[in-house]
Amino acid sequence: MSATPLPRTLDLRKPAMHKAYFEGSVMPADLQRLRGLLAADEGHIHAVISCDLDDEGRTVLSVSVNASISVRCQRCLEVFQRPLDANSRLAVVRTDEQAAGLPEGLEPVLAAREIDLWAVVEDELVLAIPVYSYHEEKTCIEKLTGAEHTAAAADDDKPAQKAETDGPFNILAQLKRDLDH
Ligand SMILES: [Zn+2]
Repeated sequence: MSATPLPRTLDLRKPAMHKAYFEGSVMPADLQRLRGLLAADEGHIHAVISCDLDDEGRTVLSVSVNASISVRCQRCLEVFQRPLDANSRLAVVRTDEQAAGLPEGLEPVLAAREIDLWAVVEDELVLAIPVYSYHEEKTCIEKLTGAEHTAAAADDDKPAQKAETDGPFNILAQLKRDLDH
């Protein structure tokens, strides 16, 4: 992982840029639209963007984003780091007509002179982020029940039997059943 910042701008007026390779990091706090979907600024975003010309002479950006972002678990409400990856191929177009004519698998980027690479990365993540995030089930149960209950459950090889008789554990058993489905 590189800590080098991702360059901000791809200048389409420079011919070399149409075959350029960009790699670097962006901070979640620097992407305002994405930030509005996050629970905290902690996290990292690493992006690789390589440009090339396709057979039709279109400039195509292959975008790969690997991120870890702060989201709130909708089950236990704790903030946690969620990995988020996104990959896509973008074709630079100048008109809506060109955009409409793109083959399947290519998404249009409307631009004439410059492309804001940070905005490209932000778009990828905004599209990829799920509406609701949840911990892994096991982790979430541990958060919900607390370390004490977790330790008790670990000592007990048959927590389901205990749940038959023990009030608080009934709730836990019910929760586990809910999560299993
Ligand atoms: Zn949770």
